[in-house]
Amino acid sequence: MPKYLRFVVAFFFFTALSLTTLTAAQERTIVLKAATILDGKGQILRNTIIVVEAGKIARIGGEAPADAVTYDLTSLTVTPGWIDTHAHIFWHFDNGRLAGKDEPPIRAMLHATDNAIVTLNAGFTTIQSPGSPEDKDLREAIARGTIPGPRVLTSLEPLDEKSGPPEKLRELVHERKQQGADFIKLFASKSIREGGTQTMTDEQLQAACGEAKSLGLRTIVHAHSAESAKAATLAGCTTIEHGAYVTDDVFALMAQRGTYYDPNIGLVLQNYLENKEKFLGIGNYNEQGFTFMEKGIAIVLDTFKKALKHKDLKIVYGTDAVAGAHGRNFEEFIVRVRDGGQDPMAAVMSATSISAESLGLKDKIGTIAPGMDADIIAMDGDPLRDPTAARRVVFVMKGGKVYENLSPNTKRLSTQ
Ligand SMILES: [Zn+2]
Repeated sequence: MPKYLRFVVAFFFFTALSLTTLTAAQERTIVLKAATILDGKGQILRNTIIVVEAGKIARIGGEAPADAVTYDLTSLTVTPGWIDTHAHIFWHFDNGRLAGKDEPPIRAMLHATDNAIVTLNAGFTTIQSPGSPEDKDLREAIARGTIPGPRVLTSLEPLDEKSGPPEKLRELVHERKQQGADFIKLFASKSIREGGTQTMTDEQLQAACGEAKSLGLRTIVHAHSAESAKAATLAGCTTIEHGAYVTDDVFALMAQRGTYYDPNIGLVLQNYLENKEKFLGIGNYNEQGFTFMEKGIAIVLDTFKKALKHKDLKIVYGTDAVAGAHGRNFEEFIVRVRDGGQDPMAAVMSATSISAESLGLKDKIGTIAPGMDADIIAMDGDPLRDPTAARRVVFVMKGGKVYENLSPNTKRLSTQ
């Protein structure tokens, strides 16, 4: 055998060997011992084990297999991995300012990777990004399984009133699907600063949401005014984003039609104000806008309180995280419970099973139950009694792989 061939054979032998070892490690059963599990659907399970096999929850309870790798999470509160239905994963600061188009794309991607890692470490195992074309490469890199990050769903480039007449919008919906979009993002109203009046016509909304539905795609719609939210609801769109000025009659209509509501009351505006100097002077970030955003905090909180009175309204968990907010996606939960008066268990369900349902993933994520993907987190404290416990996620598993295990109390019991 020529020398180089021997090298090639040896190379393949070792590659095969290490792959076998890796596969064996991945297939090793994992047991999570828990004292308190919030299952994502409103149930509390006590003093049990979660058995994880091949990336999924195999069973809950029963005897632990003898050779399993065991993590003791009994001092923590265990929940499904949280979901952020509205996170702009690509937005970031570079040299202390909001990064723009002049930034080299490689540097932008590394910043986005930072965002993905801090988001996952915060306990968010799935995010929906509405959206930017670069999301696709990040989504695929994370899905390859080496770079830590949440599952990413993206709309790629959003559509708005200027995208074209109804026929053109139908074409663009097809185009997004071909490009690999997971859903369609539409802008149906102006920003909160401009009163949020409707921008897309009823016909445009019907065309975009109707076509998306026929292709099996969901539609999420930026809509602030009651009028724009109503038009999107009647057009059969999936989710209303922001909805700062939505009125009771429109919330009732949304509840009746099963349209999801995604308020973002706890992070986005607060983050803008905290990082004002990094945004000010760029695009339309001016003093007037910041003054309005200060007032906006009370406006959206009020609307959220109104929404809570509609018991059948399905409220999902989106933060609208932009630059500076990634990795703090839990702040939304704290504001909803502490300031908005939402029942903490309902807020946990919003961040888990209800958001999963809105993404069309209710059979895969958002609940701790047999057959579900093993997206499981644990926090130091009880979020039902102290919402700030959401800031203390110390254990993160996604798809059966442990990405974070920080608690001094979280012993990995097996040494193998
Ligand atoms: Zn947004």
